[in-house]
Amino acid sequence: MDDEIRYERHVKRVFRIPLLVLQPLLLVIWPLSLVSNPLIADPYQLRYLGILALLLCSVLLLARARSARLMSLAFTGNIWVIAFAFRVQINDCGPLGHYWNLPIALLITLGTCGMTYRISAYLITLAGSWLILFIGLDRLAPATMPGQLVAILVGVTLAIGIAYNYVNSHWMRRTFSLKERYRLMAETDALTGIANRRKLLAQLEEAVRISRDSPCHFAMLDIDNFKAINDLWGHQTGDEVLVALADEISHLDPVLSVGRLGGEEFGILAQGVDQARLDGLLGELRTRLARRPRQAITFSAGVTQAHPGEPITELMRRSDEALYQAKRQGKDRVVWSS
Ligand code: GH3
Ligand code: MG
Ligand code: MG
Repeated sequence: MDDEIRYERHVKRVFRIPLLVLQPLLLVIWPLSLVSNPLIADPYQLRYLGILALLLCSVLLLARARSARLMSLAFTGNIWVIAFAFRVQINDCGPLGHYWNLPIALLITLGTCGMTYRISAYLITLAGSWLILFIGLDRLAPATMPGQLVAILVGVTLAIGIAYNYVNSHWMRRTFSLKERYRLMAETDALTGIANRRKLLAQLEEAVRISRDSPCHFAMLDIDNFKAINDLWGHQTGDEVLVALADEISHLDPVLSVGRLGGEEFGILAQGVDQARLDGLLGELRTRLARRPRQAITFSAGVTQAHPGEPITELMRRSDEALYQAKRQGKDRVVWSS
């Protein structure tokens, strides 16, 4: 899966709880301010209900957003709608209402700085909200508030918001990278660099679960007389042989999932590949390994087809038994289990 898609999933998980808290808050905060506002004569006007409906729709969109990208867009939309709702309320308050444009804008600036994972999304959210709250006004605050103090307040708030957003986005990326690094380490065989047993068995489990529509085969491979290679050429050469085999199997066909089960045993998961094709691929592997310049490698393999939904322990038992038969029949061969 693409790194960016994984990252967006991570982001979505990180924001799940804050958004769960924010959504009801967004719905409650505006009607509450409306009914408790002494400057609003009739808080039950139809157009207020219309704005409340708009707010509800935007919150529902946010709740239903499937990807992090859509979630970010819906979040920006939510904030713009809440800014619009407050602007309407402020306009209806007459000249005294102007005292509230700035506090609402500052609240939005600080309240949203930890809720977007890209600085561009934060700045767009802010630019839109400030525009909605101040368009048509020639001052940020009433003339009774000293201009320099307003400028300092706005400057400091923006600086805090942008700095927090930057640090938060940066740490979210870093946490994700670390998580990815540990996930890869937990799924990779340290010597050969291919999938380890844990990863391959997880893939096998998933493949068996969905194997109803297309064939799914599992091959267990074991290098023949590997101990002799170690004894004759040394452990280091033994390791090189393991790496070479892993390299050959993983370049056989992209449709195969390959992993090291342990020692000199490897597993191949073949989804949507029929018996003839898998047989052909294993034959090709045999030919390539036989052509190795220093020491030719041979292997024995036991292959079995998965029955949909069966436990993988059963599948492994059958391929292990087939592999054992291949060894008993003289090695350097593939035995298919029925
Ligand atoms: P058979 O043909 O019956 O499979 O015999 P074999 O010699 O291949 O199998 P055996 O089980 O007798 O020996 C396997 C050897 O693999 C023993 C062990 O020291 C060696 N081995 C296991 N893991 C590693 C490894 O990571 N590196 C190296 N170099 N050797 C390993
Ligand atoms: Mg073995
Ligand atoms: Mg062996």
